[in-house]
Amino acid sequence: MSLFNNITYRAVLDSHLFSYTEGTLCCEDVRLDTLAEQFGTPLYVVSRQSLVNQLRAFEAAFAGLPHFTCYSVKANFNLSVIRTLAAEGCGCDVNSGGELFRALKAGVSPDRIIMAGVGKTEQEIEFGLTSGVLMLKAESVSELRAIDRVAARLGKVANVAIRINPNVTAETHPYITTGDSKEKFGIDEAELGEVFDLFRTLPNLSLQGLDMHIGSQIFDPEYYVAATQKLLDVLETTRLLGFDIRWFDIGGGFPVTYDPQKPATPIGRFAEKIVPMLEGKGVTVIFEPGRFLAANAALLLTRVLYKKKNHAGKEFFIVDAGMTELIRPALYQSHHEVLSVLRHETGVVADVVGPVCESSDFFARHRMIDDAAEGELLAVLSSGAYASVMGSNYNGRLRPAEVMVDGSEVTLVRRRESYEQLVQNEM
Ligand SMILES: *Cc1c(COP(=O)(O)O)cnc(C)c1O
Repeated sequence: MSLFNNITYRAVLDSHLFSYTEGTLCCEDVRLDTLAEQFGTPLYVVSRQSLVNQLRAFEAAFAGLPHFTCYSVKANFNLSVIRTLAAEGCGCDVNSGGELFRALKAGVSPDRIIMAGVGKTEQEIEFGLTSGVLMLKAESVSELRAIDRVAARLGKVANVAIRINPNVTAETHPYITTGDSKEKFGIDEAELGEVFDLFRTLPNLSLQGLDMHIGSQIFDPEYYVAATQKLLDVLETTRLLGFDIRWFDIGGGFPVTYDPQKPATPIGRFAEKIVPMLEGKGVTVIFEPGRFLAANAALLLTRVLYKKKNHAGKEFFIVDAGMTELIRPALYQSHHEVLSVLRHETGVVADVVGPVCESSDFFARHRMIDDAAEGELLAVLSSGAYASVMGSNYNGRLRPAEVMVDGSEVTLVRRRESYEQLVQNEM
């Protein structure tokens, strides 16, 4: 096949932090082949500076608004990732007791943590309240009653935001749209009357915020405009009813580029629409970006085990990472760029597949890939969000190690799992 160097270059997604130096893919100042030697594969490689840069870009875009950015920990819950973003001024949005535990372990102050979750157990509610989180985001009338019950038992008044389902169907993958009335998330507008009555009658609840989250990887700012308008209408109502709302939470969902052919809408385009709507409203706006901060801050480094060609001429690269490390292609048919760590002058059209016993275990299909040899390294880009956090031990697979690169410094931020750890909780 012909030369396609420029394709390879363009494919290093809008990031100078993963780029080729003298024909070798690097993370910041560190060669990826060196990391593979030192830590083995598969390996998640996180660029610290990339996390910081994304957060700074986000903060710059929304600088015009009084706001509080809470990193959505579910995107990448590694303690070092949380710590990096918290050190830059982020709060945290957690979705379960486990994520709350992680955020606290990472040293995030509880009054900078907000707690979501469509199905919080009473134990999780209690954990949130006793930790002193900034607020709980409630998603149903029954949950509000449960929060009141737990708060009463603890002798506390719970600070609560209500997550409203704005009934806006954001155009994204159906598994990641969340603001549609068909979905399980949020409180339906028709129920708001009952909700406000509850806040007036139940003594252990204090309504502090309004909240929404319409989905993920949303390219069109107009969905935010429509949903924000609905939330503003609810704000108006709460004021007429005498509630004093401090927090106006419009959730996450801001997009990143996975496929260079489909570049994400720049964050500034969202700010242009959202900032004027919320200026001077007397509330602090909360944002909950996850993917936007983490997705392109890491890649998954993997080794080519075997190459093979079938009778129809189809080629396969069989690599040592699979859907157990990055399930997004299997789950959402999502696109991830796959690059050879060493650049080659020639390419081949192939499928890049993992070792797991499922046909959906692939990273790329019918894709032009640098013609790396068996034993060489490939990098699966955009593996910083919804990658390791969705990992599993299926097929007896061990969870990979994770390293964080900062300039020329490398830190192991998660040890590779061992066989013993696979069975440690079984008797
Ligand atoms: C998943 C989630 C987010 C983060 O979504 P991204 O698309 O990663 O920005 C924010 N808020 C809530 C409530 C979520 O469930």
